[in-house]
Amino acid sequence: MPQYLDGVRLLHHKDQQTTTDATLTFAVGAQDETLPTVGIAHALEHLVMSTVRRLPITIDATVDTTTTSFLASGSPARVGEFLNGICAALSAPPVERLEVEAGVLAAEDGWVTHPMAALLYNVRYGNRGAGLDWLDGPGPDGLTGDQVIAFARRWFTADNAVLQLTGPIPEGLKLSLPTGGRPRHGRYAARSFDGPVAVGFGIPGAAVLLSLPDGDAARTSVLATDVLQQRIEEMCRHVGGHSYVVDSDSVHQPDGTTDWVLYAEAREGTEDAVAQAVAEALTDLAANGPSEEELRLALDRFDEERATFDTELSAEFAALRRELFDEPEAEPLDPDRVRAVRPDELAAVLRAALPSAIGYATEESLEQWTKLGFQAVPLCPVGGELPAGQEFRPHRVARLFSREAREMTLVLAPDGLAIRDNDGVHRLPWDGVAGVMRAGDGTTVVFGADGCVFPVSGDLYRGGAKVVDELERRVDRSLWFKESRFKAEED
Ligand SMILES: [Zn+2]
Repeated sequence: MPQYLDGVRLLHHKDQQTTTDATLTFAVGAQDETLPTVGIAHALEHLVMSTVRRLPITIDATVDTTTTSFLASGSPARVGEFLNGICAALSAPPVERLEVEAGVLAAEDGWVTHPMAALLYNVRYGNRGAGLDWLDGPGPDGLTGDQVIAFARRWFTADNAVLQLTGPIPEGLKLSLPTGGRPRHGRYAARSFDGPVAVGFGIPGAAVLLSLPDGDAARTSVLATDVLQQRIEEMCRHVGGHSYVVDSDSVHQPDGTTDWVLYAEAREGTEDAVAQAVAEALTDLAANGPSEEELRLALDRFDEERATFDTELSAEFAALRRELFDEPEAEPLDPDRVRAVRPDELAAVLRAALPSAIGYATEESLEQWTKLGFQAVPLCPVGGELPAGQEFRPHRVARLFSREAREMTLVLAPDGLAIRDNDGVHRLPWDGVAGVMRAGDGTTVVFGADGCVFPVSGDLYRGGAKVVDELERRVDRSLWFKESRFKAEED
């Protein structure tokens, strides 16, 4: 029988301990924000934690792409105080502290995930959903108390929460969260390509995004990404030392697949070698599978991890997570099937993911992907011809000094804007605008939902003020935001 506490689903691990460990998780993260409210989950988390930070126990909180969690360990009574305080603050966030917390948040400069993972989610999903991990939005100083309160009310409800407790259940728990239905998550189509592609940018390192099916009884995707990560680590070690960060990040998708990003940072001068290591590890494993030794190590890690966790509780939590995100159910994990996995099964999993894979390297090292058959593509979608409409060209001075500017044309068409640059034609339909930013220097920057980002002001285009006027008429006020003053100071 499922257990509930004040409408919050409770997973209780009855361990022989006198202290209590609590994790209160909400099915809401950075992917549920919008471009004009990027960072709002993190801001809310700070406001809420400020109300309990004097408790003399170990406490913590995290916001990632999909979830927000509050954690505490200590005497049952103190952990009870923590949970009651968190819930009370979530139902009435202390937004009067927003200005003070904004400075703290700006100084923290916390990424939701690693920049290489964030960039690849942005390439896949555009300026929405998990793609927001890549963007700054208005910064912590651009959020209003009303926005924070509305976000908390929508997402931080009893129906959208799971409480995991180990040890004694605190007495007198009062989880005063709003109830009334589980909120639905946005659904965004992924950008698709004809075969494997690669994008270039300036972050030193290399990465790959793979969409893998999820939840078979042998958990082959988990094993496949594990052997790939180990292979990348092994190859980077030969490139030059042990200090590389090699890690992975993943976002589950409602269709039952998971987007995995595996990434390796590169020290100056090793970008090429690291890109080669990542690209070759993937293509070789997809063709030939892992060695027997690599597979055995992956299986040993799998066993070890199961031995250190309460497997029943973690299976229950995984099932519940799928329910909260409307994902299809997974097959029950079958340890015998896991142990029977063969190298060619893992090769097949990776091979099936290759046609939709997105590689990443620095622009100078992109060749490490293209020589293996990955097509270099721009960060955002391009294609087609410029539509008919009023044309705007960059100022003469800009055209004189930049080859790029000479080829730029901005078109104001009835259904939106279009821009032609070196990469091709980008479209920004009025109903596909994710946000419009007023930058600190007076520029107006338009963000398309599918990933395009363009400045369009009169400073850049002759007569461009007319385009800004049209944007003001066409794009809803709620989508406009100012560049963070913290960000402007940085630039
Ligand atoms: Zn574009």
